[in-house]
Amino acid sequence: MKHLKRLHLGFTVPPGPEAMLDWFEALHASYIRNGEPTSPHVVLPDGRHATAAFNCEALLCHGNLRELAATALVIKLRQSGLSNIDGVFGSPRSTTLAADLGRLLWVPNYVVETAVGGGMVFRGGDLVPVGSVLLGVEASVRTLEVAATAAGAILCGAPNKVSFHPKVATIVYYPESLRTPAHENVMAIVEKEVAVWAEVDCPLCTQGSQAIPLDGKDKAKLFAK
Ligand SMILES: [Zn+2]
Repeated sequence: MKHLKRLHLGFTVPPGPEAMLDWFEALHASYIRNGEPTSPHVVLPDGRHATAAFNCEALLCHGNLRELAATALVIKLRQSGLSNIDGVFGSPRSTTLAADLGRLLWVPNYVVETAVGGGMVFRGGDLVPVGSVLLGVEASVRTLEVAATAAGAILCGAPNKVSFHPKVATIVYYPESLRTPAHENVMAIVEKEVAVWAEVDCPLCTQGSQAIPLDGKDKAKLFAK
């Protein structure tokens, strides 16, 4: 808990984007490149290079912070007038956050699992009432690909039973551009544009900035302060 001693606790409830970014920083769970030529940049899990990354697991493992984030998302849902939801689900790494939203909304959290050999699978189709409207929940969203994979698993497990809420709820949305149609499908606490390139096109590598994989042994260089 030593990281949390730095946590700024003067936030309003629900926490807004500034408080959320403070939490990520205090937990050493975010990296936002400062523009110095020598500062490193990130290799995302898909191999692309980027100027920022968020380690949501470091936040989600703190149940109190996770619940506050879920509360903020539920309030946003209610303010949007789009809170008519019969159930929630998320990709496997986001299922704890989805469970918190489900609890606050008084609806079930349908658990999507990692499939043997990769991909995702939903085995609880018999639990889902016909006609349910389900909300996708993701800890973070860069593209909507992971959320779409989770929704696909739900459709395979509960064919002809469900429809989906128009927005995916997430703590951090960090696309290359916020001015795209995909923005209409995301409801986030923090929204931040992050530059992303294929490795061969990365100008930061050309400048000599070190590229550090998020899942590699050097990732502490990104997140340590
Ligand atoms: Zn690069």
